[in-house]
Amino acid sequence: MSATKYVFVTGGVASSLGKGIISASLAKLLQARGYSVTLQKLDPYINVDPGTLNPYEHGECYVTEDGAETDLDLGHYERFLNTPTSQANNVTTGKIYQAVIEKERRGEYLGETVQVIPHITDEIKRRIKILGADNDFDFVITEIGGTVGDIESLPYIEAVRQMRWEMGTNCLVIHLTLVPYLAAAGELKTKPTQHSVKTLLEQGVQPDIIVCRTERQLSEGMRNKIALFCNVDPTSVIESIDVETIYDVPLMMREERLDLEVLDKMRMPEGVKPELKKWEAFLFRHKNPKSNVTIGMIGKYVELKDAYKSISEAFVHAGAENQCKVKVKPIHSESLSPETVEEALAGVDGILVAPGFGSRGIEGKIEAIRFARENKIPFLGICLGMQCAVVEFGRNVLKLEDVNSTEVQSEALNPVIDIMEGQKEVTMKGGTMRLGAYPCSIVKGTKAMEIYQRDEISERHRHRYEFNNKYLDIYRNAGMIASGINQKDDLVEIVELTDHPWFVGVQFHPEFKSTVASPHPLFVHFVDAANKCKEKK
Ligand code: GLN
Repeated sequence: MSATKYVFVTGGVASSLGKGIISASLAKLLQARGYSVTLQKLDPYINVDPGTLNPYEHGECYVTEDGAETDLDLGHYERFLNTPTSQANNVTTGKIYQAVIEKERRGEYLGETVQVIPHITDEIKRRIKILGADNDFDFVITEIGGTVGDIESLPYIEAVRQMRWEMGTNCLVIHLTLVPYLAAAGELKTKPTQHSVKTLLEQGVQPDIIVCRTERQLSEGMRNKIALFCNVDPTSVIESIDVETIYDVPLMMREERLDLEVLDKMRMPEGVKPELKKWEAFLFRHKNPKSNVTIGMIGKYVELKDAYKSISEAFVHAGAENQCKVKVKPIHSESLSPETVEEALAGVDGILVAPGFGSRGIEGKIEAIRFARENKIPFLGICLGMQCAVVEFGRNVLKLEDVNSTEVQSEALNPVIDIMEGQKEVTMKGGTMRLGAYPCSIVKGTKAMEIYQRDEISERHRHRYEFNNKYLDIYRNAGMIASGINQKDDLVEIVELTDHPWFVGVQFHPEFKSTVASPHPLFVHFVDAANKCKEKK
């Protein structure tokens, strides 16, 4: 097999242009041509991982099979490629410096002065090449976070410059820029792109391909102009016009021949023509719904578009599977009280209570769950959402006194959700939760079994608190059963109500495993239940 090829995707002019989606779309097309591809994200911030960041900073924290807390772009990579990512697929400046400083403390630099070049850049290059090391992948596509010109991304661009120099045609740079439309002038403008490429050139990197994000079509003349000013072939100027959904982007990039341009520049055979039949069928079902449902999504970050990214995308996949348009209605948990809940949730066909941390908004979540339980509205509780369902049941059905999770009230008389044994001694915050994939056994004859159709499943986790097993019996006797158990550690992973059409709480995060090719069964069944609830009304 020939050497692994390294493709870098940088961004210019503005952030939020969709580097992650362009990277994932290119990967999808190369995968469809028969190549093995993986995607990596380099994040220039100094946090070791985004696990300690709140969602206001960079949106959702995504969790991989092997328990890495990562940037949300890894979620896109998995949803597009349907292959898992790992610890190695997300690198931050914090991780790089941590590794270099630890090496220095071990004396491994043998008296050298430790510097950004070569020590930091060498560590960056090592992290990039790890993915290609075993020759498992034909292509490693590495997305560089931030925008060219940012001080903090300089060492990454320098590492790219060095790799290009060392690897020749085995390395390629795609630069994604914005070509804005000026309404007053009635024109698209290429100047920001020219400046952005100049900034890259000042740092020693000549992009091979320029992808132009734009609201309007680029004329032949504009493409030629960009090619001329930025030293690229006219065929290497790729238009990325705004589309209805991110899932249109691979098809648009196929149309624009982005994959062919990459293969040609890297002297790789075209492989089989990318069919993407299943992908197209998914898009058809997504765009031609036969029904629609509204799901009330309750969380404390609902005003942020990216805070629950994987949940929103899982609804897109599950909606398409049911050929049903899922409208997610964001509802702020702090806005819910016994007085407001009825009005806020009127008209929803399903209720999802989102994951989260801390006490803010908890009572609103519990109110929403009471409403779902009493009115027999389909309910899905994820992680904290499941824990709130347990608290709600303890308070309003079992009528226990002073019921809470010890995360919220450490001295609660009835701590129905309590910190896990192994977490009691943990004092460091970063990367110390119960993280990543764990097995779960499904109990026969339950809703969970109906949904999964399997005895054993594996799902991803990110939490410190758990169902308190002391309460298992009284809960079971009153109609809330544990239908999924991690047998090794004796942990409740799924709860459900026996006397309700669809009420499921999961301690894990099913949203991280939903992909276009494989929509998550919990979401698929939840949307189906919401559909049925709507028909009944
Ligand atoms: N805060 C809860 C815990 O740590 C729930 C976490 C979550 O929702 N991801 O257990």
